[in-house]
Amino acid sequence: MTKPLSTAPQFRRLALVAVTSCVGVTPPRTAFGSPTLPLQGRVATGRPLMTTAPQFRRLALIGVGLIGSSIARAARAQKLAGSIVATARSAKTRRRVMELGLADQVVDTNAAAVEGADLVIVCIPVGQCGAAAREIGPHLAPGAIVSDVGSVKAQVAHDMAPHLPANVHFVPAHPVAGTEYSGPDAGFAELFVGRWCILTPAQHADAVAVQRLSEFWSGLGAKVAIMSAAHHDLVLAITSHVPHLIAYTIVGTADDLSAVTRSEVLQYSAGGFRDFTRIAASDPTMWRDVFLANKTGVLEMLGRFNRDLAKLADAIEAADGDTLFELFTRTRTIRRGIVAIGQDSEAPDFGRPRPSLALAPLPRPYALENE
Ligand code: NAP
Repeated sequence: MTKPLSTAPQFRRLALVAVTSCVGVTPPRTAFGSPTLPLQGRVATGRPLMTTAPQFRRLALIGVGLIGSSIARAARAQKLAGSIVATARSAKTRRRVMELGLADQVVDTNAAAVEGADLVIVCIPVGQCGAAAREIGPHLAPGAIVSDVGSVKAQVAHDMAPHLPANVHFVPAHPVAGTEYSGPDAGFAELFVGRWCILTPAQHADAVAVQRLSEFWSGLGAKVAIMSAAHHDLVLAITSHVPHLIAYTIVGTADDLSAVTRSEVLQYSAGGFRDFTRIAASDPTMWRDVFLANKTGVLEMLGRFNRDLAKLADAIEAADGDTLFELFTRTRTIRRGIVAIGQDSEAPDFGRPRPSLALAPLPRPYALENE
């Protein structure tokens, strides 16, 4: 096990120095003022740890959908847990988890899953987390680390913490990685590689538990950052929650149109709409819970979005091309920044494979491939 870090302030300062030397950039500063706090350099690189001994004796996964099953696959591949015990709400999913061989043991209840586990990760929709914590609370082993993967942090911590005994360490987490698919078949071991996992421990959280969990996520291939739950919810409101809401809206609006037929919407979807439909295919239960749980962050960001959208409508109305051009230039820079830091592919059309013509195309001396 790595050396425990004695106090919180020391822990934070170490992190910033390490990440600066590690990736050669200044620590990330969010648009909302307070910086994210990546952990030590080794953790922040996101390179999978090659461990010799499992970090945890027994890993319990409550919920084995996209995220839980990806954790199971990666933890097993990286030998991060001596054994894995899993459970899910329905017998059908539990049976599938067994068929896929995702866990050493599959049990019927959340309470049974956590018996003797030194790491428990709750991987279920955020609206269910409080009830799950109430079920597992009395059965947790002393000293266990309890975490989750919920896309909203303040509400989940508020719902779970009261049910957890004082002798366990609660360290909420959110891997910022996913797809529009759900269920145990949808997961894959590489899901977290190079993605951020944000930990939102309370101020008084045990530094060793935080460090152990961050090493676990690093072992899954993730880069780890620490921030407050409230700040996480504001950041994710604009980077994830509001974009999902917009996608759900625009796809719904298109479906409701009477002047444009549904078959036209489908047929001509490549003009931008197609990418919204991918996001709007995300799990309805999960996203309903996200919006209900992050009401404050989402409404704040949605307010800003609505004001900016109204300004754009005004610019179009006033034939103010400069305003449109200035914004579109700025947003193109953001897209290029996302590609530059490896958060997306620079391949055209988001890396989609291209169909080929029957005959070889003419060479293109007039433009680069990605222009
Ligand atoms: P998912 O694929 O729908 O899987 C959810 C799992 O939770 C299923 O195994 C389900 O079992 C189980 N479950 C639901 N309620 C339960 C309960 N009360 N007790 C025990 N098991 C229960 O969902 P997911 O995409 O993995 O999302 C899980 C969590 O990860 C959510 O909190 C979400 O916010 C977060 N997250 C998701 C993404 C993403 O892109 N999907 C990314 C980051 C974080 P049944 O199949 O039997 O119902």
